[in-house]
Amino acid sequence: MVRKYKFASHEDVLGRFIHCPKCNELLSPSDLDSFNCCPYCNFVLERNNELEDFVVEPIVQVWLNHFSNTRPDGRSSR
Ligand SMILES: [Zn+2]
Repeated sequence: MVRKYKFASHEDVLGRFIHCPKCNELLSPSDLDSFNCCPYCNFVLERNNELEDFVVEPIVQVWLNHFSNTRPDGRSSR
């Protein structure tokens, strides 16, 4: 699969970033979740599966963290 977008991850910042194809600024998923639009240069990013995954990933992570803190059998450890 050919990647359309360049992704970056930084250990000092939570989550992944995407490089704007036009101005190369780092964009976070929250920059793109409502408009697929670069806040720096107004470049409109084409919404594809890759971009979709990037935007929903942090939301999925929140859900995974939520469920990993909740015991599946509903019993408390205390
Ligand atoms: Zn841009």
